Formats: sequence, C-alpha cells, structure tokens
Amino acid sequence: MTIAFSPNWQHAVVTGGAGFVGSHLCTELLASGVDVTCVDDLSTGRLGNIAALLDRPGFTVLRADVTEGIPVERPPDLVLHLASPASPADYLRLPLHTMDTGSLGTRHALELAHASGARFLLASTSEVYGDPQQNPQNERYWGHVNPVGPRSVYDEAKRFGEALTTAHADTKGTDTAIVRLFNTYGPRMRGHDGRAVPTFVRQALAGEPLTVTGDGRQTRSLCYVDDTVRGVLAAATQGMRGPVNIGNPGEITMLDLARLVIDLTGSDSEIRFVERPTDDPASRCPDITLAHDKLGWEPRVTPVEGLRRTIAWFRAETGSTAAPPPR
Ligand code: NAD
Repeated sequence: MTIAFSPNWQHAVVTGGAGFVGSHLCTELLASGVDVTCVDDLSTGRLGNIAALLDRPGFTVLRADVTEGIPVERPPDLVLHLASPASPADYLRLPLHTMDTGSLGTRHALELAHASGARFLLASTSEVYGDPQQNPQNERYWGHVNPVGPRSVYDEAKRFGEALTTAHADTKGTDTAIVRLFNTYGPRMRGHDGRAVPTFVRQALAGEPLTVTGDGRQTRSLCYVDDTVRGVLAAATQGMRGPVNIGNPGEITMLDLARLVIDLTGSDSEIRFVERPTDDPASRCPDITLAHDKLGWEPRVTPVEGLRRTIAWFRAETGSTAAPPPR
C-alpha cells in the first residue's frame, strides 16, 4: 500500500502505536518518510506488532500511559491519537482505564498538538452511535447510547473525547480532525480479543466450534485495515474537522461471516450459538458519502480478499497446519 500525502509532515506521534490499527499507521507513515514516535503503555498492544520497525531510522518507541502525560522531546507536526482499549473484552476488563484514556489521555494528546502547532486526529468509533435507530448511520446522527450499560465506558469515553476535541478546536484554535472508525479487521489482531473476525478465524484454524452470538442475524460492516489506514491518513491530510465515518458499507450478518470464515479456512468446524452480550447493536453500517465526497476515499479490499490475507497471517502466527481450501 502506498499513500500520497500532501502535507510535509516531518514527525508524527502515534498514541496507541503498538496496537492493531496504530502499528499499521506507524508502518505506513515510516514508509512515506515521516519520523514516528509511538507512544504506548502496552495495556492492550504488543511490541511484536512493531518489532519490524524497531531498527528503522526515524522510529522511536516511548512506553508511557497517556493518562499521565505524553513526554515526547521532539515536537510533532502530526498527532494521531489512537490510544484506547478497543475490543469489548479489553474495555470490560479495563473500564476505568478506558474512561481515563478517553478523557485525560485525549486531553494530553490535544495539549501536545496545540503546544507543537500540530494537526491532531482523534480515532473515534462507530460506537458513538450506540445501538442505532437509523441504518446506515451518517455523521449527523447523534446516536442511541445507554450511558450506564456495560459498553458505556467505551462509548461515552469516545463521545467525551469528541466533545473535548471540538472544544479544544473552538476555544484554542487547535487544528483537529475526528474520524469515526467502523469495525476494522486484519493482520495483528489478537485471537482472543473477543472481536468477531479474530475469534472466528482462531476457532476455525483450531477446528473448534465458531461461537455466533444470538441468532447471528445482527450485522456488522467490516473494513480491511489497509483501507482504514488510508482513510485515517486522508482525513489527517485534508483540513477537514469531521467527524467523518471511515468504514465499509458492505453489511454482513455474523452467521454469514462465520460461514465465510469456515469456507475460506477449509475448516470442518461447526457453528455454535451462544448468548448475545447486553446492548450488542443489531446493526452497524456507515454512510460514507462524506468521506467519499470530501476525502475521495472509499474501501477497496473485498471481504473475501481481506479475510484471505487475515487468515494467512493468523495461520503463520499460530503455525496452523489446517489445509487451506483450493482456490
Ligand atoms: P488496540 O487495543 O489494538 O490498540 C490500542 C493501543 O492503545 C494498544 O497498543 C494499547 O496498549 C494502547 N493504549 C491503551 N490505553 C493506553 C494509554 N492509557 N496510554 C498509552 N497507550 C494506551 O485497538 P485497535 O483496534 O488498534 O484500536 C485503535 C484505536 O482505533 C482505538 O482508539 C479504537 O477506539 C479505535 N477504533 C478501532 C476500531 C477497530 O475496529 N479496530 C473501530 C473503531 C475505533
């Protein structure tokens, strides 16, 4: 993947850079000649995600918790703020950390950007729409969130982060952007992070039953990580404030996704229906008209191609010997 940037960024700070999406962003920025400081406390990320970058000139890792401050020495001209637990398994395990990261951590990232005169980008989420009452969701929809439900620690932290980012731009003139990422998948996800794609792929490669929640008719829209990274960098490049949806509008039911993973892995796993979590949204689908019109962005990688690449990575990681199906 090669991305053309219009600004002449010299140094980017990527908070959460050792995570799934953040590590792909670090890789892409470095490949484009931008120095990168990855700031991460490794609460849900892994050094392994950035192992290939550690010896690269221009790449620095700072192990720090953004809730306590972001002590980078060299001022950046771009701050991509991704630090936050993101999978339900992680934020339910780390509820207060998630809220502190979305509030205090976002405040520190904004202060860094403001003090450095840098462009700031908040990685927000489709979870700000909660269990939406309109489908697809455009950026003008305010959402349907249970503020005291189990998912609220994440949803409300991100909503607060959006409000804080907006207030910073309005009162201090900080150059900000907000992207609302929808479900993203790809290499470097953790098999046990609880999200559907890595869970199904791990289970299929191990020959275990694929656990589909509820009746499996709930839908998600899945965006391959290369497409998400292109969207994030397009939003950072353009002067737009957003919020802007970045996601793949192709909806798929969880049952169909499980069947597709079984098919693509050549697994003989069965499907097992299990209880659906509280407040699990029935549907999630981005309206990407704004991203298309203002950023010239749309996803390119088909679900079959993206899943093939993801499965190949998981196979290499786990050393699975399950035979790939004939193509
Ligand atoms: P991830 O858990 O793989 O990455 C998050 C990273 O942030 C990890 O490396 C973690 O160690 C780090 N982190 C967490 N709290 C921190 C703190 N207080 N200080 C420093 N580092 C901290 O998750 P991801 O899927 O890569 O998500 C990255 C960002 O994108 C998150 O902000 C998430 O909300 C957003 N997002 C992701 C998706 C998706 O589908 N992956 C969808 C919507 C939004």
